[in-house]
Amino acid sequence: PELINQIAAGEVIERPASVVKELVENSIDAGARRIEVDIEQGGSRLIRVRDDGCGIARDELVLAVASHATSKIGSFDDLERVASMGFRGEALASVSSVARFSLTSRHEGQDAAFRIEVDGGKLQEARPAQHPPGTTIEVRDLFYNVPARRKFLRAERTEFAHIDDLLKSLALARAGVDIRLSHNGRPVRLLKPARDEEAALGRVAEVLGPDFPAQSLRIDHSAAGLRLSGWVGLPTASRSQADQQYFYVNGRMVRDRVVAHAVRQAYADVLFHGRHPVFVLFLELDPTGVDVNVHPAKNEVRFREQRLVHDFLFRTLHEALAQTRA
Ligand code: ADP
Ligand code: MG
Repeated sequence: PELINQIAAGEVIERPASVVKELVENSIDAGARRIEVDIEQGGSRLIRVRDDGCGIARDELVLAVASHATSKIGSFDDLERVASMGFRGEALASVSSVARFSLTSRHEGQDAAFRIEVDGGKLQEARPAQHPPGTTIEVRDLFYNVPARRKFLRAERTEFAHIDDLLKSLALARAGVDIRLSHNGRPVRLLKPARDEEAALGRVAEVLGPDFPAQSLRIDHSAAGLRLSGWVGLPTASRSQADQQYFYVNGRMVRDRVVAHAVRQAYADVLFHGRHPVFVLFLELDPTGVDVNVHPAKNEVRFREQRLVHDFLFRTLHEALAQTRA
């Protein structure tokens, strides 16, 4: 299973930011209200994610790092209606096969914490540990046993920038969660939880820069079982953020051709020809209407009714943007 896990890791774990993504998504799935991410040397030396979520019971610890073991999906039917961020049960198995890995957790219903360590895929026995309810995962020396991959890690600054970008995209979709990021012992981001819409907009501002919401348009429209909400930025002459495009489907950030096309059309058609749309948008639909099991990294989706989704997005944005021209 060791080699198989390392091969699977190749698809899921490309760089430190991919580890952070999988760990933080697990914390979100665990219902965490607070997530702390500590990074050393761009993540190549240490990635530590600590949460106050539901935790893992002692007898589930070994299962958590086993390949294809997930507590989130029980049947094929469940796979048709995924509501959690994770569902493949391979992230921890993959990560622990290509790093020095430890998992310390206390289940919400238990009064003792336990810790397991996996060193390059070799599992040590669970031992008692100190930990408040929740989970801490440490990933040290990523790819230490896969030199061909370690070699491809970029400069510390570059890898950290990827981690920061990733965390920003997760933070936008989870405005209610307290998220902290530090690098080499220095705090880099302290995102306070937002309890209402105004605070959520403040969080968008904090993450994307103060420029964004000052000239943005609030979107919230539902039709045909679809809901689109969030903010679109109105480009000004001084604006050049080509990369501030965040689109989420049921809370999961995705890159999707159908979505990109609909948004681009709406902008181009109305007034911002030749400019980059800036947006943070959330599409919600019944989970059975979208397949999230398209790629191991889970950032692609397939809509059952592509045309319907495309037209809904286009019309909603077109109408909203057209109003701003008046
Ligand atoms: P998946 O998220 O697809 O289920 P993972 O390999 O990411 O697979 O995690 C395996 C299992 O470990 C999860 O199904 C969950 O039960 C448990 N787990 C992982 N991280 C956490 C966490 N931070 N808090 C609680 N449970 C966790
Ligand atoms: Mg997971």
